[in-house]
Amino acid sequence: MDRVLVTGGAGFVGSHLCERLLDAGTEVVAADNFATAVMANVAHLLDRPGFRLLSRDVTVPMSAPGPFDAVFHLASAASPRDYFRLPLETLRAGSHGTERALDIAERDGARFVLASTSEVYGDPREHPQREEYWGHVNPIGPRSVYDEAKRYAEALTSAMRRERGVNTGIARIFNTYGPRMRPDDGRMIPTFIGQALAGEPLTVTGTGDQTRSLCYVDDTVRGLIALADSDVPGPVNLGNPHELTVRRIAEEILAVTGSASRIEYVEAAVDDPSRRCPDISRARRELGWEPEVPLTEGLPRTVAWFARPRSGPYPAAGA
Ligand code: NAD
Ligand code: UDP
Repeated sequence: MDRVLVTGGAGFVGSHLCERLLDAGTEVVAADNFATAVMANVAHLLDRPGFRLLSRDVTVPMSAPGPFDAVFHLASAASPRDYFRLPLETLRAGSHGTERALDIAERDGARFVLASTSEVYGDPREHPQREEYWGHVNPIGPRSVYDEAKRYAEALTSAMRRERGVNTGIARIFNTYGPRMRPDDGRMIPTFIGQALAGEPLTVTGTGDQTRSLCYVDDTVRGLIALADSDVPGPVNLGNPHELTVRRIAEEILAVTGSASRIEYVEAAVDDPSRRCPDISRARRELGWEPEVPLTEGLPRTVAWFARPRSGPYPAAGA
């Protein structure tokens, strides 16, 4: 890949993706409207040759200087707190935004990679989740603005492949964590780390028996690039099959931070999936991909980033 477009390139996953592509010598155009991102995520990339940041809303027709070899479509709120705050914008990012990004891929004959989500499985009745499972989603609940937008995005991507021959690949990303998550994005990892470092109680929702499987961001990004480098249509699960209860994740964060905080159980979240764990056989078989960074390495790196001194220049994630 010589030149790529990354929508949502200033976000958490997007900024890591841009950085890794630049490291590989790829020219990167990032398009972002900063709905859920902070400039600090990409500030250290602005001076790098081959990087260009465009302030763009991908839900409206946009000029993006091509031609591109690949289009990664990541633009969308991703944290429940963000998409509850931006419900209509989230629906538009998945629908109009995906259409606009596909248009650019079709224009340039580029490989298109959709950042879909394990949320398409909803509160799953099959465990672990294989790509063949069609999901169990409440179409009208508050989470539906995200889940159904992504399901629509998958349908649109599949139709563009069938009807118009666009070279598409769908990644179903499971919970990803690491440096550059926004401290206030409301997701479990930044919330628990922030609470532990501040000596406040860790607010675990419901019983804490619900499960998640956490993938370190470097692994997720490597998977997205492997998908882009292939002709695999997917969908392909990208996630770490190491499944833990949310209570256990809170306990791990207490251990890594050395915090004396306690766990406080708060009201369960609406339509919160009770279990989530990827079956990654397809990614192993078709992409030769599997996660490499265990929680015992990824969590300390993430905690160190959150605990960094805030004065002075914004450090790169690896710093
Ligand atoms: P994020 O909120 O940090 O990044 C999303 C980015 O998209 C932000 O930079 C935001 O400003 C941008 N954006 C939103 N709407 C836009 C619009 N209309 N035009 C231009 N830019 C827009 O979230 P993230 O965790 O980095 O997630 C990135 C992608 O990966 C999302 O599509 C998300 O659905 C998907 N994903 C992430 C996870 C995860 O655990 N992080 C899991 C599954 C799927
Ligand atoms: N969660 C929690 N406390 C928080 C934030 C989240 O217990 O402060 C729970 C949430 O209810 C869910 C899990 O942690 O069961 C993962 O939530 P997150 O928002 O990180 O991601 P999701 O998988 O729901 O998209």
